[in-house]
Amino acid sequence: MFFDTDVIIVGAGPAGSLAAYILALQGIQVTILEKTLFPRYKVCGGGLTHKILKEIPFDLSPVIESSIHSFRFSHNFGNVFTRHSANPLMYCTMRSDLDAFLLQQATEAGAEVKMGEQVISFMQDGSGITVSTKEKSFRTRLLIGAEGASGIVSRIAGLRDAIEMGLAWEAEVTADPEDLKIFSETVFLDWGTLPGGYAWVFPKKDHFSIGVGGPAGLSKGMMPYYERFISSITDITTPSSILDSQSSDFRPPISDLRPPTSGIRFGETRSLQSWPIPVRSRKSRFHNGRVLVTGDSAGLGDPLTGEGIYYAIRSGKLAAETCSEYLSGKIISVDVYSEKINDELMTELLEANKIKHLLNAFPLKIHSFIGDSDHAWGAFCKILRGERWYEDVRKGFGKWKHFWNLVCFISGIVKKRKEKRFLKKNTV
Ligand SMILES: Cc1cc2nc3c(=O)[nH]c(=O)nc-3n(C[C@H](O)[C@H](O)[C@H](O)COP(=O)(O)OP(=O)(O)OC[C@H]3O[C@@H](n4cnc5c(N)ncnc54)[C@H](O)[C@@H]3O)c2cc1C
Repeated sequence: MFFDTDVIIVGAGPAGSLAAYILALQGIQVTILEKTLFPRYKVCGGGLTHKILKEIPFDLSPVIESSIHSFRFSHNFGNVFTRHSANPLMYCTMRSDLDAFLLQQATEAGAEVKMGEQVISFMQDGSGITVSTKEKSFRTRLLIGAEGASGIVSRIAGLRDAIEMGLAWEAEVTADPEDLKIFSETVFLDWGTLPGGYAWVFPKKDHFSIGVGGPAGLSKGMMPYYERFISSITDITTPSSILDSQSSDFRPPISDLRPPTSGIRFGETRSLQSWPIPVRSRKSRFHNGRVLVTGDSAGLGDPLTGEGIYYAIRSGKLAAETCSEYLSGKIISVDVYSEKINDELMTELLEANKIKHLLNAFPLKIHSFIGDSDHAWGAFCKILRGERWYEDVRKGFGKWKHFWNLVCFISGIVKKRKEKRFLKKNTV
């Protein structure tokens, strides 16, 4: 039987490129089919947590635009405070640059890339898979779906059960260069306004990425929230509204050394787009026959933060590892892939969901807790820095972990009620 390649990967986002990189390094024939031409814009905050950097086997500094040392929190646009950290909490990138860079590493490692090839269908048979794009078809032994939220591979493979949709709007907004400099290390975060969602400002080299996100069912409230958030940034950046809370590793941030006299002076809005964030609500199957799904295609978005790059990269690596074991004859099916995703990533994401329930049931309490307690702020930093996992929060309760589960369960009910009330009002 003739095969064009050993593994076809659909999509050259972080999941696809990392999977291709790992496979190519092992001398496995791998072809990426990507529908767009790179570099391409991807609506995304481009926030990179430390755990992403730990997973990537090469230096990402060429595409990092900012290092974050401060978080400025607001609750429903009020109760503003800022918390700082001497060590970077996270980094920001532009996805067009990050994705082009990751793809370049994959091609340099030996992966073949076919740009402008949109996969429209595939068929599995006894020996392999025939993948069709608009004009061509390719024969492969294994298929990795890394096509993101559009989910054509997971849909055809019947691997979409228990996926709930989040939605986020984001814009790239220019600003006065002085304001960009002042807030170059600060993330703004507003919560407690949209049930199950939040708003953010991420600083980039020459603009801010500003967005709001939450459950897709509350999409009608998102634009009004975005507009109110943008206009409120003036208030929440004025020095009078800042209450600084100092952590043990405190160092004065740039924004405090030179506070602006007024809020950020925004310029042009370069784009304003929405995109889904698929979130899996229970452990499931992530393979079918010789097809494995990764990243957003698999619904591996973090329900608490909307973070998806880490889960895309990690699942891409696990898919590559499984394909390599299969092709070398070490395993006779790829079933183990679903076990790995469930044991490692889904366990973590389900814990994230519990914390989300708690946060959304009692946003003001959690907001104040992070503002007042160094312990809470420290835990927040440790999770961002990849030193602690969501699962550790539950483990921290020791023999009281059932109590924690119960509190989260009740919070889930309170959260659902809040969402219903919000939908009824349908305004922010
Ligand atoms: C507004 C917003 C903000 C976000 N902010 C963050 C953040 O700050 N940090 C974070 O970690 N996550 C963030 N996320 C989530 C993150 O963007 C995704 O989880 C991540 O991009 C998933 O990576 P992926 O490789 O699975 O898919 P993608 O990055 O979506 O890549 C999929 C690729 O497949 C291609 N493709 C699609 N269909 C086909 C097809 N039929 N044939 C061929 N190619 C195809 C696409 O062109 C694309 O290049 C955000 C999401 C949104 C919507």
